[in-house]
Amino acid sequence: MQGVTNRRSVGMDRGQWRELFYQECQTIIQSWRSYDGRFIFKWAKAVMKKCNIFVWRAALDRLPTYKALSYRNFNFGNTHCGLCEAWEETIDHLLCYCQFALEVWGLISNWCKVENLSFSSVKELILAADNMGLGKKSTKVCKGIVFVMSWCLWKARNEKVFD
Ligand SMILES: [Zn+2]
Repeated sequence: MQGVTNRRSVGMDRGQWRELFYQECQTIIQSWRSYDGRFIFKWAKAVMKKCNIFVWRAALDRLPTYKALSYRNFNFGNTHCGLCEAWEETIDHLLCYCQFALEVWGLISNWCKVENLSFSSVKELILAADNMGLGKKSTKVCKGIVFVMSWCLWKARNEKVFD
């Protein structure tokens, strides 16, 4: 593993990490209040709140990826993806371009028997199920699966980085 990839090696304990998370939540709430409404986030009703909140934060680019943290002056030595370690870690990379994400979306496509799921951005990922020409119920299920799998990718990233 190249460079620094976990919070312990940069001296951040769980409390500091949690504080950073709460700061991020405050920023999200403020950004939500001043949000101009151009991109309307529709929740996936069939899935857990935490998955919806995760995808909503991803759409606002408010998740603590290495790249996002570097913009906020948290220096971890490098900004490589916590999963593949090959590319700069942005939320678009983690959910749309990372080799692990591509494998997951390929398997999900086969499992759901839908056209190959691929996304150029998180916003495209959110809208994908709506644009596949599926029936109402299938759209709801597909959107739910995409949201849950996005959250699972983030969880897998965090487990690899922190454990
Ligand atoms: Zn990656």
